[in-house]
Amino acid sequence: METLSLDTPVQYVKGVGPVRAAQLAELGVATLEDLLFYFPRRFDLRRQAQPIGSLTGDEASATVAGEVTEVSQSRFGRRPWFGCCLEDPTGWVLVKWFHGTYLASKIEPGTFLAVSGKVGVYREHLQFVNPRHQVLYDVAGTNLNSDELLPVYPAGARLSSGQIALIIKRVLPQAVERVERWFDAAYLRRRDLMDRPAAVAAMHRPEDIRQWEAARRRMAYDECLLLQLGVAMSRMNDRSRPAHPLRHNPTIDQRIRARFPFALTKAQDRVVAEISADLAQPRPMNRLLQGDVGSGKTVVALYAALQTVANRKQTAIMAPTEILAQQHHRRIQQYLAGSRVRLALLVGGQGTAERARLLEHLADGAIDIVVGTHALLGASVRFRELALVVVDEQHKFGVRQRTGIRGKGFAPHYLVMTATPIPRTLALTVFGDLDVSVIDELPPGRGSTLTLVKDRKQMEEVLAIVQQRLAAGQQAFFIYPLVKPNDQSELMAAEQACRELAAGPLGRFGVALLHGQMRAAAKEAALERFRGGDVRVLAASVVVEVGLDIPAANVMVVMHAERFGLAQLHQLRGRVGRSSQDATCILVSWGGTELARRRLEMLAATNDGFRIAEEDLRLRGPGEMLGTRQHGLPELKVADLASDLELLQQARRDAFAIVQGDPLMEAPHHHPLRAAMLKAYAGRIDLLRGA
Ligand code: ADP
Ligand code: MG
Repeated sequence: METLSLDTPVQYVKGVGPVRAAQLAELGVATLEDLLFYFPRRFDLRRQAQPIGSLTGDEASATVAGEVTEVSQSRFGRRPWFGCCLEDPTGWVLVKWFHGTYLASKIEPGTFLAVSGKVGVYREHLQFVNPRHQVLYDVAGTNLNSDELLPVYPAGARLSSGQIALIIKRVLPQAVERVERWFDAAYLRRRDLMDRPAAVAAMHRPEDIRQWEAARRRMAYDECLLLQLGVAMSRMNDRSRPAHPLRHNPTIDQRIRARFPFALTKAQDRVVAEISADLAQPRPMNRLLQGDVGSGKTVVALYAALQTVANRKQTAIMAPTEILAQQHHRRIQQYLAGSRVRLALLVGGQGTAERARLLEHLADGAIDIVVGTHALLGASVRFRELALVVVDEQHKFGVRQRTGIRGKGFAPHYLVMTATPIPRTLALTVFGDLDVSVIDELPPGRGSTLTLVKDRKQMEEVLAIVQQRLAAGQQAFFIYPLVKPNDQSELMAAEQACRELAAGPLGRFGVALLHGQMRAAAKEAALERFRGGDVRVLAASVVVEVGLDIPAANVMVVMHAERFGLAQLHQLRGRVGRSSQDATCILVSWGGTELARRRLEMLAATNDGFRIAEEDLRLRGPGEMLGTRQHGLPELKVADLASDLELLQQARRDAFAIVQGDPLMEAPHHHPLRAAMLKAYAGRIDLLRGA
């Protein structure tokens, strides 16, 4: 087909037609390009190899595989040849290729090789002459075997891997010529990257696994590069907008610090300095603040807010839930008692008149700091001069929402807070356009938290422990995986469990219920009773997971702990141990797998959030944690963020250099790359429109 282009619908590709095209569409393959980038999931070896020891010497055709132990050649005879000795655990065999001296660069001692052909005897030794061969890689331990790598594609309901392989094989030679190169040979050589068209071809039909690995590397690089180009542009774009420089000096610093009833920790001091310096710039800050639960992020955020107030500008602080917004508001109110700073809370459920008045005061500048949920992003919310936005994401990564609040003109400074330590690769992608600050120290004087793992059969013992703590004046959380009982599962539900607790030995301490489906007012009332100590037991669904700060509560019991993720359990546990008293966290397990058991033991053994996050990443695999799609970033199909850190860093350096030199990628030689980037972001990129 003369006019074949990458945009050609697959239907018009030779050998496809409307029926196949419909089947391919089910796999998300619409164009020739989609087809080219529909890569095999793995490769099988086509034929079974037989043990070398079983060869007799009169096979018309046999396949064996093993390691090359010796090579030899004769270049200058009448019939030049190249040969080797191939060995597997059962024996060895000679292999000879006449006119095969070109193989000397490919086959050397240590190479794993499969050969397939006629077997004969030469000077009493078994020998293959001119067999077909395939260089294998790392066949040790695998089920060895064959002479050709067979691509295995993710099959569809109506389309087998074999059928897909056939379609692709037919079109590959011609289609690959349409693949753009993007970079010149020197660029590729410096990065040890394969040519792009060759890499696409080798993804489907590699000569051997080594070549496939090189191809995969190139494809992964390209994915990372396109992603990072978007990140780089976003960052350039953010920074190209003016922001209000928020002046800072020792007087302001002293006034702000005087608001806190404690000295900041060293880590808080360092982070405050980083943020302060950013805020003083005439371009917007974009900073991620990481710190384990209880490390004192809120205080840092308030410092930034007060620097903003000192410059007569406004701050919006966004929390993930209303409960947390209320808590932030209450805490900040305490810190600000007696000051002239005007603070407001904006949540749902406020009366229309009250809301209207709040909105008015945000618009006319009568409010300095407003705390709320993401409702603050609503179109009806206008500020006189919003200069700082703080997003308290805690463990959630829904950070892309923050773009919503960015208006025209002056850009606000941005501070995103998270309590989950973030692996490096994630920081470079999902948070790739942010600078990072870390609070790696807890405030002094905290009690320690003892974590116990118990079986459900030990419930009586658990209750006895809790009862003893309650009798000593402490308060306790009981956490359940469900709100209401569910026919499909035997999991405990908070509502029912709350009634049972109230009827049991702990009933006399007072039990309240808190879950995510309650109305805001009911939630607040329940929390109020718990906070005030009227009730000393709170039966809750996982709503308490995020950020809740009730220092008097120092006992936590998590039911069905085996059902929760490690990071989630760590977050939950962070709700206790927030005062000088020692705390107890009891993880009650309903059994489950050996792995689940080990995870709980690991949690009991350490309180280090970074270690737990790494372990979580390792156990759950990167996919779940590093999902890029939900962040509006291109999907990574080939690159593996758990193992491609170096490649990602290289791509990031390259992308930033490209965008530095050509911010909108307008140079003609950047057009293909720019188009590919826009396509990868599939409309999710509003980065190029400018402010
Ligand atoms: P995070 O938001 O990181 O979980 P918070 O800001 O809620 O942590 O702080 C947790 C608790 O520690 C709060 O009760 C807060 O008042 C207290 N705190 C914060 N910084 C300090 C400090 N430097 N010294 C003593 N206590 C502190
Ligand atoms: Mg907090």
